[in-house]
Amino acid sequence: MSEDSRSPVDHESGPGLVGMAGSLARSMAQFAASGFRTVPKEIHAARVAQCEPCGHKVGPQCRLCGCFIEAKGWLPHEDCPVGKWPA
Ligand code: SF4
Repeated sequence: MSEDSRSPVDHESGPGLVGMAGSLARSMAQFAASGFRTVPKEIHAARVAQCEPCGHKVGPQCRLCGCFIEAKGWLPHEDCPVGKWPA
């Protein structure tokens, strides 16, 4: 019996691996440029709470951007691709 090792993100309609890699590289560059600042924990919690019931959340990831929500929620420059939480 084989184990399904696919990502929960649908790469047919989502950003795809190359798109996700590019987004991650850009986001990490912005994070470094900001002096590795993060949002306050209350803001992070509010962002993650917005994602929890969202139909685009698949496991730990957002299907639309492919980001890992828990990590993305800490980054001041990030936002929800459909405007549920701002940058
Ligand atoms: S980032 Fe936005 S679209 Fe993605 S799971 Fe969170 S609320 Fe949904």
